Amino acid sequence: MTQTTSTQAATEAAVQQVLRFEVDPGVARLPEPERAGILAAPGFGKHFTDHMVTATWTPAEGWHDARVHAYGPITLSPAAAVLHYAQEIFEGLKAYRHEDGSVWGFRPEANAARFARSARRLALPELPEELFLSSIEALVRTDVDWVPSGGESSLYLRPFMFASESFLGVRPAHEVTYCVIASPAGAYFSGGVSPVSIWLSTDYTRAAPGGTGAAKCGGNYAASLAPQQEAFAHGCEQVCFLDAAEQRWVEELGGMNLYFVHADGTLVTPELTGTILEGVTRSSILTLAGGLGLRTQERRVSVDEWRAGVASGEITEVFACGTAAVVTPLGRLAWEGGETVMGTEPGPVTMRVRQALLDIQHGRAADTHGWLRQLA
Ligand SMILES: *Cc1c(COP(=O)(O)O)cnc(C)c1O
Repeated sequence: MTQTTSTQAATEAAVQQVLRFEVDPGVARLPEPERAGILAAPGFGKHFTDHMVTATWTPAEGWHDARVHAYGPITLSPAAAVLHYAQEIFEGLKAYRHEDGSVWGFRPEANAARFARSARRLALPELPEELFLSSIEALVRTDVDWVPSGGESSLYLRPFMFASESFLGVRPAHEVTYCVIASPAGAYFSGGVSPVSIWLSTDYTRAAPGGTGAAKCGGNYAASLAPQQEAFAHGCEQVCFLDAAEQRWVEELGGMNLYFVHADGTLVTPELTGTILEGVTRSSILTLAGGLGLRTQERRVSVDEWRAGVASGEITEVFACGTAAVVTPLGRLAWEGGETVMGTEPGPVTMRVRQALLDIQHGRAADTHGWLRQLA
């Protein structure tokens, strides 16, 4: 056997071994009536299923000790690197129960690929795509009774990875922990879809060229909380960030991408310049638009174009998109000294795009793009 093939064989053996996520058979499950009570009104991110996934990475062993075990606290050294230097990334995706009881993921391969890109930016070890996929499959299968059915409900999956090594030196950690937890989620808008108000931040930016804006890392969210508070203080629900260099180009919200609907039926979304997080929802809408009779453009959009477009009627609707809230209409944009109102009701194009996406995810429309993957 040559050197290469023996290394390959060792790697494949390791992957094979890890792919069999050991499921702890002894985990106590929440009694059915209590689970049913939670699933009737799950909210978002409040309740967690009976199990979780963990796996560990070290330079010597690679990924190992992959297990599905009881959901519960993690023991960490106070010197764990993540607590000091925030070497952490995460993902967010949903599992949907279809009418026939089967459970499906929406483009989980795209989340796996983005997780690997985020890992590279944060100097974390890449988790092979097949491991990412088998980890969510293992958790969904084990806790399948936690996948709600009906309406817009789903099981929200949160894979994440962090530097668990106990060491205060500044370098990529030599021990990294991967986890997946799952949380049942109801419709994001419990009282029907209604437009949200947006604060245009000019004191803060989210991402600078060369920074971590394109990676899904906790640090980006930590930095978005002060501007989020500023938004609340101005009576707004969300923040819109402009580019760091010129404070002129519209980037995205703290956790959602943006779309502008033009009067001629063109959907315009800010182009990916390295400072915008590449949303799976954003990319799916780019693909779906044609089938809805809409054209798309990825290009720079200035905040002046936004304001003037709303005033002239050239921009008829604006919406935000992301896995958690799917598609959210924006009603009002406020900034220091002014505001513009897009609409007090959700726009028709926004609602068509939203429905088209939900229908595929929930199995009510044909999956012509091959986006669904059966999980259970
Ligand atoms: C996760 C995220 C999004 C949305 O991505 P989806 O894959 O559509 O859920 C947008 N912006 C930021 C900053 C994000 O972290």
